Amino acid sequence: PVRARFAPSPTGFLHLGSLRTALYNYLAAKSTHGQFLLRLEDTDQKRLVQGAEQNIYETLKWLGMNIDEGPIQGGPYFPYRQSDRSKIYAKYVRILLDKGFAYRCYCSKHRLDQLRDSARLLKPPTTASYDRYCLNHYTKEQSDVKCANGEEFTVRFVSPKRYPIFTDLLHGEIDQQIQINPVDVRYEDPVLLKSDGLPTYHMANVIDDHLMKITHVIRGEEWLASTPKHVALYNAFGWKPPKFIHIPLLTTVDNRKLSKRSGDIDIMSLKAKGYLPEALINFSVLFGWSPKRTYGKKSSEIFSLQELENEFSLEGLTKGNAKVDFSKLEFFNKHYLGKKLADTESEFYKKSLDDIFHKLSTTLNLPHLSKNEVDKVLTAVGSALSKVDELDTEQYWYFFIKPSYSIDSFLKSTKLDTDTIRKIVQQLRDNSVGLSVENMSQTIKQIAESIPGIKRKSVYQTLRYALSGPQSGTNMHTIINILGMKETENRIADFAE
Ligand code: GLU
Repeated sequence: PVRARFAPSPTGFLHLGSLRTALYNYLAAKSTHGQFLLRLEDTDQKRLVQGAEQNIYETLKWLGMNIDEGPIQGGPYFPYRQSDRSKIYAKYVRILLDKGFAYRCYCSKHRLDQLRDSARLLKPPTTASYDRYCLNHYTKEQSDVKCANGEEFTVRFVSPKRYPIFTDLLHGEIDQQIQINPVDVRYEDPVLLKSDGLPTYHMANVIDDHLMKITHVIRGEEWLASTPKHVALYNAFGWKPPKFIHIPLLTTVDNRKLSKRSGDIDIMSLKAKGYLPEALINFSVLFGWSPKRTYGKKSSEIFSLQELENEFSLEGLTKGNAKVDFSKLEFFNKHYLGKKLADTESEFYKKSLDDIFHKLSTTLNLPHLSKNEVDKVLTAVGSALSKVDELDTEQYWYFFIKPSYSIDSFLKSTKLDTDTIRKIVQQLRDNSVGLSVENMSQTIKQIAESIPGIKRKSVYQTLRYALSGPQSGTNMHTIINILGMKETENRIADFAE
């Protein structure tokens, strides 16, 4: 069984990218009857965003992703919030200090800035900027005395000469070395413990993944460059590293970085826009994963969370396919919305009806609009909507108010001429009693036959325009059924004016 964790930093609200990471971890665990952990990586106190932690909990709950162990759920390796684990990190830093894998650094910020600037000028330039002054200059005893005297320090890792090679399940063998300048020797020696006593991401991440018995680390590709450091830390502790899988970064359809402008907004905002959890899950699971087998009888892209819990496997992850095409989200939302609205007895249907009734009443300013009317329309066209709110757009308003149109406006969208239209409307008006849903086809046929050179299609077209104006989409039986005979007759009569 896989033990996987989603380890967000509460530095912002949960976005599509983090949803996908959370989902792969969740599914890797659930599909193997393992555990899914939520760990809050909040040691960078400067970057914390108010409300972000709460947003993470709420979003996962809304999506239906059950957390087995976490800050709220608890679990055998509690606490699951890194800011509550300082004592644990202190213990492990001590171990590294004692073993000589780490040392205290007392250098001033000014000195470190100078070192960093000069490292950029080296050939080749290097991000490994520290000269190991504190490691080479102070004995262990001297360093202890400085510490006891209350001098401010950070703890640095003695980075190895060569970073270990490791295997990523998706990328294969990774051999990533820091360029070291042979003359002016500099080292990466990453900081493990900051001067405020809190650990850096690297150290806390490694210690926690080990202590929490994580078997698979699934995270975004942006962390791939940090992993050699992590593996070196595992080695220093004498621990076995977990398996690593770095998943591709999300891009737009034309291969740009996904940004706020290209629609990368947080999940709760997407919820407010009318997207369903089922759709968002189905949408994001396909950014870098595809089913190995076809699901059920035919191959499909439609997966519920439950189906995914059975179907998911790490072998289905791919390095590509991480393009975010929002039209797909519309497609999935329409699919799930139609399915949910089909159950008109459900709480979901009732809530949707209440909401849209309220909205329509406000927009259309119709004091006499009844919920019953809206109910009929929602039932009839629910499966055509990608969001419930669509009912409150021009496309559907004609169900509730007569659209403003005229024969002149109709002329723009038809090949028929005024004279013919007038003849058809006249006939429709005379025969409107026969337009009841049962007789409609028959009546239309008769009208077409009574005017020389007129096809049935033209009669349909004219009738539709008289009833719904330029909006198409809904079948005419349904329209007449919902409008009722009286309103149908009125609209034809008005159109003829
Ligand atoms: N805290 C990191 C983040 O916010 C987690 C990276 C990891 O999963 O190791 O993405």
